[in-house]
Amino acid sequence: MRIGKLGSALIVIAVLAGSLYAFQEPISLQLAKRIIAQRMGGDPLKDLPDGLHIAVCGAGSPMPDDKRGGPCTLVIAGRQLFVFDTGNTSARNINKMGFNAGNIQGIFLTHFHSDHIDGLGELLLQRWVSNSNAQPVTVHGPEGVETVVNGFMQAYSLDRGYRVAHHGDDILPKSGFGATAKTFSVQDEKATLVFQNADTQILAFTVSHEPIHPAVGYKIIYKDRSIVISGDTTPSPHVTREAKGVDVLIHEAMSMDLMKILQDGAQEAKRGKLEQLMKDITNYHTSPVEAAEIAQQAQVPYLLLNHIAPPLPLPGLVDAFLKGTAAVFKGKIQVAKDGDLLSLPAGKKSIDVSHRF
Ligand SMILES: [Zn+2]
Ligand SMILES: [Zn+2]
Repeated sequence: MRIGKLGSALIVIAVLAGSLYAFQEPISLQLAKRIIAQRMGGDPLKDLPDGLHIAVCGAGSPMPDDKRGGPCTLVIAGRQLFVFDTGNTSARNINKMGFNAGNIQGIFLTHFHSDHIDGLGELLLQRWVSNSNAQPVTVHGPEGVETVVNGFMQAYSLDRGYRVAHHGDDILPKSGFGATAKTFSVQDEKATLVFQNADTQILAFTVSHEPIHPAVGYKIIYKDRSIVISGDTTPSPHVTREAKGVDVLIHEAMSMDLMKILQDGAQEAKRGKLEQLMKDITNYHTSPVEAAEIAQQAQVPYLLLNHIAPPLPLPGLVDAFLKGTAAVFKGKIQVAKDGDLLSLPAGKKSIDVSHRF
């Protein structure tokens, strides 16, 4: 039997694929060893210029979305790590992006809806064990933060005992477990300074998320760069006021048109209570077009939409989500997904966009 040129080529490919398959395990092991050594020994911030960086550790809402976990924004200011809201994927996504949860210096909560705090326990645990921290981290928030933090401390108190007993206080100091709550008060007239050091200022301001009270947004300033995080809110003049002159506005967004599809689906399925629930949640959020109008009024060059609702499982839905925004906002607009990184180098005007996983 004659084997033609094509036949020989196919045999060669098959043999190569076979040998690659045979070496798959040793190659993967070598690769894993190298990656683990780099991750554990390397400086996770070495590739980032001095400046302000936004790493999206959760771009979604309580509704499940493969690309978007619960609300979480990691803000890197110089070499400091601050986390804003701790949704259910916070710790895992911070790790997946290559950052070290053990280096988190402060956590800030916008309000206490469960989707903004349900990853706090896991994040506190990772922060404690990753660097054998001997001091708890501070969780900042408006009135109510103490109830949340104390609740997690209570729920994890047995786990703390197990881990200290297993590893010993030298490896895992009991004193570093968990968090200390720090309550700040806010007023409608102006933002309140809630954290400050040589190059960094963090301010909190009230937003409109009735009947949830208090609910706040944050402004973060590092050297000459700044950002605003809206938190959960209907269109709020306080967000517009604080966003004036910042480099990036991170604003929550819910497409009322796409939510209507969910409402209609619930109606068709004769699930009246679910239909009402879907209607109710549209009245304390902001549409993408409204967020775009706020960004335009504030003259912000870059709008990052997050807390994306409903989920966008198909690429075409992102276009549907953004429908109408280009007509009202002349800057750049991006629909956030987990792993997105926006870098704002100090002393420059640039905003560099990348994706970490
Ligand atoms: Zn909320
Ligand atoms: Zn929310």
